[in-house]
Amino acid sequence: MRSGDRDAGQVPYFRCTLEFTCRFIGADMTMFDVKTTARNKTAGKASTRTARQTTLKDSIGISGIGVHSGKPSSIVLHPAKSGSGITFLRKADGNAIDQLIPAHVNNVGDTRLCTVLGNPEELYVATVEHLLAALRGINVDNVLIEIDAAEVPVMDGSSRPFVEAIREVGTIRQSAPRRYIRVLREVKAAHGNAHAVLRPHDGTRFDVEIDFESEAIGRQRFIAELTPEVFAKDISRARTFGFLAEAKQLRAMGLAQGSSFDNSVVIDDEDRVMNEEGLRYEDEFVRHKLLDAIGDLALAGSQILGEYKSICGGHKLNAMILEALFADSKNWCFEDAAPVEDQPMYSTPVGAPVGLEAASQPVAAAKA
Ligand SMILES: [Zn+2]
Repeated sequence: MRSGDRDAGQVPYFRCTLEFTCRFIGADMTMFDVKTTARNKTAGKASTRTARQTTLKDSIGISGIGVHSGKPSSIVLHPAKSGSGITFLRKADGNAIDQLIPAHVNNVGDTRLCTVLGNPEELYVATVEHLLAALRGINVDNVLIEIDAAEVPVMDGSSRPFVEAIREVGTIRQSAPRRYIRVLREVKAAHGNAHAVLRPHDGTRFDVEIDFESEAIGRQRFIAELTPEVFAKDISRARTFGFLAEAKQLRAMGLAQGSSFDNSVVIDDEDRVMNEEGLRYEDEFVRHKLLDAIGDLALAGSQILGEYKSICGGHKLNAMILEALFADSKNWCFEDAAPVEDQPMYSTPVGAPVGLEAASQPVAAAKA
């Protein structure tokens, strides 16, 4: 991919936050020699997870800077009641009124540089995806996120600091069963050369593929049955990335003001990774795209039972697939896990749907 190939008007830095031109269109993936990594093909294997909803044991304060604004930002994650989901409480400046913004695709205000919730002309919260990925990745259902700035702290460019902070305080199971969104019919989305499909699957499976002309990245694919263990070990540490030459463009536009080697993998004009510490995973780039997809699909409002496959995707494509899903009520249904109080909580049959552990078979399929 060269600069001239890109869509006009796009500023190609922070790949995780942008749709980008892909080298192939609709090709049969099996025809190519793609570097592919697969994790946890056996869903739901030996787990102590619960099918009840969870929240935090206590509040957690996290501070940093916004990667685009470069400004300080503080968030406080609060425990929240069952069924409330993930909601931002955007604190307003001065005499303006604070605003509650549920983390839902209906509230997406922009997807060009990152995922923005709220009205970009008024009160909003930007760069929500890495925090949402952490919450979704380790199965935290209900949280109120108080934030005093327009952008979630970028931390180290991954979800790891959020995961560590949550694990430090711990989570608790709530009385209500976890409510899933089950994909009933395949839906598709496309944007430029980016393609996505969301299809029925017993579990939560991600299959993400990218293709860059940059030799530092190339073509990578990562497939994972999402579990908290897989997320923490194989996905959460993957950082956002971008190209040095293109950083200047964004900075000239007043963006990427907070970007640095501390929160981004940077590739120079010679296709080399500039960060002294190198990569955290050999295929860190595609793993970060997967991380972004997990965060963006958390905007369904509930955990999804289905398989999401994306090729050359980004935030816009991720939002489009949820819009396609919700466009027809026949595409999906709510599905509550069975109450676990009278069920064995620490045995999981191999092959059980991820998150529907321990004999917790679906008992309800009612749409709210
Ligand atoms: Zn990202």
